[in-house]
Amino acid sequence: MYIRDMAAQQKPPAAAVADDSLEKIAAEVRGCPLCKLSRTRKNAVSGEGQLAARIMFVGEAPGRSEDDKGRPFVGAAGRILDDLLKKAGIERSQVFITNVVKCRPPNNRVPEEDEAAACRPYLDRQVSLIRPKVICILGRTAYSSLLGGGSITANRGRIVEKAGQKYFLTIHPAAAIYNKSLLSVLEADLKKLAREVKRMDQAGKSSLEDYM
Ligand code: URA
Ligand code: SF4
Repeated sequence: MYIRDMAAQQKPPAAAVADDSLEKIAAEVRGCPLCKLSRTRKNAVSGEGQLAARIMFVGEAPGRSEDDKGRPFVGAAGRILDDLLKKAGIERSQVFITNVVKCRPPNNRVPEEDEAAACRPYLDRQVSLIRPKVICILGRTAYSSLLGGGSITANRGRIVEKAGQKYFLTIHPAAAIYNKSLLSVLEADLKKLAREVKRMDQAGKSSLEDYM
């Protein structure tokens, strides 16, 4: 029973293809021609972080700063995310951060369905390699694209499970740029996420101890 519990916890949504790697994905993304965003991007943004990350953050799409630098969440929304991660005791360098689409939509418009669909295999491969304990959904675009969800404000702060993968739902950091009251909402959510991951770690440990 314990073996099965442990196996269930560790079961990836889909097995990674042999010899795939985050570097390989990043190289493919850099030259990717698979949707129309390839024609207007400056730099594709595959994502960054650890293969061993326990938390994976998924935002919407690169903005101007990200398109300039080729790195995720390095503009105004990124500064908010960095600050709140620190307050929650989550090291940015220990997680993995990416987006639903890897290229900036013109004028930061919401990615279109065909773009998200074309880009999806990259995200799925990243998830298969990293096998995060939890995927933190940042905002509505990631919520609808990954889980088919509707209102993020109605569901934020929750953990949901789909196909053996846990997801934590919260708002997008950019929402807090113009509405400062959302800063404390996101701060509380990220602290909750940190607590939940710690709890999952504890649960994993005790079932191992029980088994031994
Ligand atoms: N907003 C996002 O959704 N992603 C980024 O990388 C930056 C801003
Ligand atoms: Fe390729 Fe994704 Fe960029 Fe579209 S958004 S060109 S699918 S990497």
